[in-house]
Amino acid sequence: MSQPNILHNFKSKNFDSRKHKIQFIVLHYTETKNLEKAIDLLTSQKRKVSCHFVVDTDGQIYNLVSESKRAWHAGESSWKGLNDMNSRSIGIEIVNPGEKKLKSYPKIQIDQLINLIHFLEEKFKIPFCNILGHSDIAPHRKIDPGKHFPWKELYKKKIGLWVEINQIINRSLSEKESNEFLQNLYKIGYQSPKINNFKTNSAMIIDAFHRHFVPNLVGKKPTSISLIKSRELIKINKT
Ligand SMILES: [Zn+2]
Repeated sequence: MSQPNILHNFKSKNFDSRKHKIQFIVLHYTETKNLEKAIDLLTSQKRKVSCHFVVDTDGQIYNLVSESKRAWHAGESSWKGLNDMNSRSIGIEIVNPGEKKLKSYPKIQIDQLINLIHFLEEKFKIPFCNILGHSDIAPHRKIDPGKHFPWKELYKKKIGLWVEINQIINRSLSEKESNEFLQNLYKIGYQSPKINNFKTNSAMIIDAFHRHFVPNLVGKKPTSISLIKSRELIKINKT
C-alpha cells in the first residue's frame, strides 16, 4: 500500500465538533459533472454541506475538512440503530455525475479511493464492514454512490460488504420469506421501515439493499437471490 497523495488546495468551513468516535466511512458521489462544481457545493456556506475527502475522476484526492471534525455529509441517517452518522464517520465524495448519467467509475479513481480507504481504516482502526454507502444509511433520501459503484472490487481488497452466491434459481418470495428478508435487512444494519408509511418505506430500504448487493434488482421486488444474500450478510457483518 502506498501512502495516498492528499492535496489541501480547498477547505470547507461546514463542520462542527464530533460527539462520537470514528467507526465508519461513508461513500458518496458528488452528482456533479466535475471537481470544480463539487468543490463549489462542498464549500458553499449557504448550502451547509461538506465532506472530509473528495476523489476526482483522475484519482487525485483532496482534503476539505480535518478528520477530527464532524463534516456535514450524511444528514439524517442511521446504521445498526446508531444515529448521528456524521459524528461517527469519515465522508468521502467521489466525483461522478450520478447513476443515471455515468455507468462506470474510472479505474484510477477507484484505485486511489481504495488506497485512501486502506489508509483511513488503518489510521482509525475502522472494521472493513463499516465502509458503507450513503444510500445504506439514508435509504429514504439518498441513492449514492449508486448501482454502478464497484462494491465487489472493493470487497476483494477487504473493504465494505459484498457476498457472492452460487444460487441460480431466481424466484419470487413467499410472504413468509418476504418477512424474513425484511427482518434480515434490519439485522444487517438498515433502519426499519416507519410504521405509518410501511409499504413505501420498505420499498426504499429494499432498493438501498439491492443498489449495494443485487444492482440488477433495483426498482424490482426481492427474489430468492436477495434473500440468500441477506442471510449470508448477517454472518459476515458481525463486528
Ligand atoms: Zn451522499
